[in-house]
Amino acid sequence: MLSGLNGRLSNRLARHFRAAPHRLPAHAPMVSFTFDDAPDSAAGEGAALLESHDGRGTFYIAGSLINQPGDHWHGLSNEAIVRLHRAGHEIGCHTFSHSRAVDLDESAMAREIERNRSHFRGIDSSIRLENFAYPYGLASVWRKPQLAKIFRSARGILPGVNNDVIDLQFLRASPLVNCEIDTDGVDRYFDEAVASGGWLIFYGHDVVDAPSPYGCTPALLRHALMAAASRNMPIVTVAEALRRIGA
Ligand SMILES: [Zn+2]
Repeated sequence: MLSGLNGRLSNRLARHFRAAPHRLPAHAPMVSFTFDDAPDSAAGEGAALLESHDGRGTFYIAGSLINQPGDHWHGLSNEAIVRLHRAGHEIGCHTFSHSRAVDLDESAMAREIERNRSHFRGIDSSIRLENFAYPYGLASVWRKPQLAKIFRSARGILPGVNNDVIDLQFLRASPLVNCEIDTDGVDRYFDEAVASGGWLIFYGHDVVDAPSPYGCTPALLRHALMAAASRNMPIVTVAEALRRIGA
């Protein structure tokens, strides 16, 4: 059975197989800030900080987590999602129930996506879910070709800058997570993006002074936004980045 394949192995294979290769145009470094699930603080302070730096973010949302209390944060509300959408942020798909892709067969994944789509259609009919992020960052070699037919891109949590020939269906993303990176580490990614002309994507969750092990402080986000400004790197949603690279 396909589902019997070890999740970690499937994730590793997904990195190498069924790529949607796309060559980046010469030297156009840019950065995307993405938030998964998503906590109400990402939609609040996180989005406000992005907007104050003329940037917009991509929020990969699982419909089942909306307005729900969790171990680390409270899920954002439908009203917050509509506000993000109308302010020019992007709403992306993160499955409905936040299940690992490796645990979903083809029809279960299709149901997850349709359920998420219909939730967002219900709160604002102009919300389109064009891009996907794998729950827990775990890709599946089996679901990858299925997702490629439905979404323009899929993002994991493999760190590094997307440069030269990138895989649109396994976009690299680096943590904007205080437990995993400091300001020097953030700066190194920005320098690498400038040197390679690449597309830097950060992922995170909550944005609060005492963040969860998966989130960041407003200070770290502010540092990253200023790092982008000082290098003249545009801060764009995933959808806008794809438009700019002609994907
Ligand atoms: Zn998630």
